[in-house]
Amino acid sequence: MGNFAVNECTEGRPGLINRFIVELSNECNLRCRYCHQNLPDFKEHRMSASMLEKVIDFGLRHSIKQIDFTGAGETTFFAGWTSIFNRLLDQGISLIMTSNLARLFADDEIETVARLAELSVSLDTIDRKIAKDLRGVDIRNIIYNVMKIRSFGIAHNVCIPNLIVSAVFTAEAVEGIEDLVAFAAANGFRVVNLQDLVVFKEIDNNAQSVWSLEGEKGLRAVRRTRKAFEIAEREGLMIRCQEGFLDRLSQFETQCLSGASTRNRRLKPVTNGHLETYAKTPGPGETRACKDPWEFLQIIGNGFVRPCCFRSVENIIFGQLDENNSLDEIIASDTAREMRRSLLTGDLDANCRICHWRKIIPVEEFQLEMREYLAQHQNVNR
Ligand code: SF4
Repeated sequence: MGNFAVNECTEGRPGLINRFIVELSNECNLRCRYCHQNLPDFKEHRMSASMLEKVIDFGLRHSIKQIDFTGAGETTFFAGWTSIFNRLLDQGISLIMTSNLARLFADDEIETVARLAELSVSLDTIDRKIAKDLRGVDIRNIIYNVMKIRSFGIAHNVCIPNLIVSAVFTAEAVEGIEDLVAFAAANGFRVVNLQDLVVFKEIDNNAQSVWSLEGEKGLRAVRRTRKAFEIAEREGLMIRCQEGFLDRLSQFETQCLSGASTRNRRLKPVTNGHLETYAKTPGPGETRACKDPWEFLQIIGNGFVRPCCFRSVENIIFGQLDENNSLDEIIASDTAREMRRSLLTGDLDANCRICHWRKIIPVEEFQLEMREYLAQHQNVNR
């Protein structure tokens, strides 16, 4: 693919967007130990009414079929969230939400949640003590809310949302990972999203990565994780995890068996100075297989428009929505095109380099994939 073709492929096309995430506010009722909200420079923000209207208008104009209300905060903390949701639902837009369900919901909130297409519940463990220590949450509230949602569906003979557990994989919670998966299977959840911990190095009391455990502790974590996968398979529950997660687990087991110390390991954290993950980084001629800057849009409460939900990183944005611009302009901006170009050429920025979410792929293969993808979607509006 020559330069000209790369330039062609960097064009922003709103019609390609199939994942549309809106963060109403980053305010939260919890303070999970691993959360970037513990960083000293963290600032709260919430979306203004005029910005929300711009976002909804964009969604309607471009026939966005589904909006995902997920963000760095707790969506249900935003005053009037049920009215916003019901208005969109009444217009036929399907909605997804992530919530910690940590406070007891009122009846009208349960009724609104029951109309969603999908509800992701942040839940790392069902051990009450660990949950309290790790996230400050009383899991009895979560369980009660889930039961209320399920009961509402039965009482009113309506389909309730697909229930998903969204769990962060930490050394603190891994001891109970089998119980978490069994809980999910027993209580009508269909999927467990298992996300590896990304460590913010500036946070003092952060959670610990499973991959930093040694010896018998590490081996126990491996056994429990494998058992959790077995339970899920037996019970017809899907565990979704990041690319290479199971390979990493096997490598980690070998290390623990060989008694390698954390200093001497093949599985080492990679860092961009601010964040640390155990993901591999692409070498020369490689890039990440990521269509997000073409297909995905996340608009957060302060107007930042992001190409993915690597949400802790403020400089990975397409632009900032304000009174004087539009989402259409931001998608078409030079910054947005540059991000697409960097993925197409393998000239990645620091964030895409250490991304723990997208797999590594040869540049040529990704270019071919994108060329075919864009040709298939050539009639999608520009
Ligand atoms: S950080 Fe990861 S998900 Fe985000 S654009 Fe880069 S490769 Fe894609």
